[in-house]
Amino acid sequence: MSVIGARDFTDAVSLAVTYDGKQFQVAPKWGISTLPETLEWLLWADRLGFCAECEKLFEVTSYRWKYCTDECAKRATDRKWRQEYRSKLKKGPAKKGRRK
Ligand SMILES: [Zn+2]
Repeated sequence: MSVIGARDFTDAVSLAVTYDGKQFQVAPKWGISTLPETLEWLLWADRLGFCAECEKLFEVTSYRWKYCTDECAKRATDRKWRQEYRSKLKKGPAKKGRRK
């Protein structure tokens, strides 16, 4: 079994689940990918997951399914909060075309 990083994997391909009325079909979908969706699929499929923060492979449990440790969960939540806070403070392109 080869291990690929979650970031490499989701940049290239994501899995689309469709339901045609009779059965579910899973097909790889190139180009468009959302990390949470793909992670959910990986977790559902084999009970192993890539930590969404440090991208290490870890065993999924009922209480730990997205991040390998509480530390990673906290770090990710903190960063997300800060990003949202910053984008509220100043709207518009962040680093593009710096104005004088
Ligand atoms: Zn982690």
